[in-house]
Amino acid sequence: MPANSQTPDPDAGPSEGYTKRTLAAQAMGRIDPITKGVVPPLHVSTTFLRDPDNAYSSGFSYGRADNATVRETENVLAMLEDAAGALLFGSGMAAAAAVFCALEPGAHVIAPRVMYWGLRRWLQQESLRLQISVDFVDTETTENVRSAIHPGETKLVWIETPGNPLWTIADIAAVATLAHDAGARLAIDSTAASPFHTQPLTLGADIVMHSATKILNGHSDVVAGVLACAKTDAIWERITTIRAGWGAILGPFEAYLLMRSLRTFSLRAAAQAAGAAILADRLSQHPHVSAVLYPGLPGHPGHEVAARQMRNGFGFMLSIRVAGGEAAAIATAANVKLWKRATSLGGVESLIEHRASVEGPGTPCPIDLLRLSTGIEDPDDLFSDLDRALWAAHGGKA
Ligand SMILES: *Cc1c(COP(=O)(O)O)cnc(C)c1O
Repeated sequence: MPANSQTPDPDAGPSEGYTKRTLAAQAMGRIDPITKGVVPPLHVSTTFLRDPDNAYSSGFSYGRADNATVRETENVLAMLEDAAGALLFGSGMAAAAAVFCALEPGAHVIAPRVMYWGLRRWLQQESLRLQISVDFVDTETTENVRSAIHPGETKLVWIETPGNPLWTIADIAAVATLAHDAGARLAIDSTAASPFHTQPLTLGADIVMHSATKILNGHSDVVAGVLACAKTDAIWERITTIRAGWGAILGPFEAYLLMRSLRTFSLRAAAQAAGAAILADRLSQHPHVSAVLYPGLPGHPGHEVAARQMRNGFGFMLSIRVAGGEAAAIATAANVKLWKRATSLGGVESLIEHRASVEGPGTPCPIDLLRLSTGIEDPDDLFSDLDRALWAAHGGKA
């Protein structure tokens, strides 16, 4: 069975010479050979007819290992990441876990101090059972990664940039060089950057991971994860085997919805980044905001590196620190009307969340921080709503 989706296809659309936006808009331009439909069909069959000689000439044998709708969505994602291959999983966590589970026992891993809290907690809980050791370091300073590397033992450096929820920036190219010099691989959680802003594989990363639940799907109605690779090497084979064996593949209906979302991905990502930039700028001048954390702001410690490795803006995520501390932050979130008080990020609707109370003890997140996921609403409306809530939390506008 093919490991992945790179077989030539007579009905495939043109793939050379067009931009990612163009290719994604047409889901690679593929036309259904039977109906000539411009939308790829939803393949639901879990099992496939064998040839008289018992072979599977179609390349499909059973739905836990592979599915045609999943493959077509993976093709779009691989194109967006300039990847040699992509694999979809039932969630971002399943995708990330597959990378760590593909390591050999005894492997040393470097992970960031500021990262998706669910994965940090999973690593803390599971690393012992997986017989891997994990050091959490401030990866926004490349020197810290250099000192944390154990030559010969470090097999994986995992970074997240921008890093949730402080939007710290790691220098992908510099960390890739360090990792490779030490014989380790570099994997990146690029959920907050999305392929609209960064192609980590072209900067030297070996594997890129996304929670496709977030801006890739963008409609808050699918839980999914994706890995994409620079080359289909031994660890990628192992990850492919893990996905099939552990039954972690995304369902076809979710893959179909994700493909539908990817057609408008660049429009949504552009609008959301533009909105976030406006909000970051206006909130920086707000009397009840003590800090705005957004890599697009010139004062952000990672701004220079972000400007080098991101394009089309700096993403849809920002955080604010509310003057007056935890109570004022929670009161601000309590007073919004347009923003939705909810976890997650990347959807077309804007979300606000007090992260410290979600992440609990051990979080690097300050208690006065509110995380903002910018949707596609009018930025003026989003700002007015926050402005009103900030004033309400501080006793009303004088
Ligand atoms: C949501 C998220 C994850 C986990 O993804 P799920 O799809 O929820 O499993 C991982 N990393 C980041 C940065 C996320 O925002």
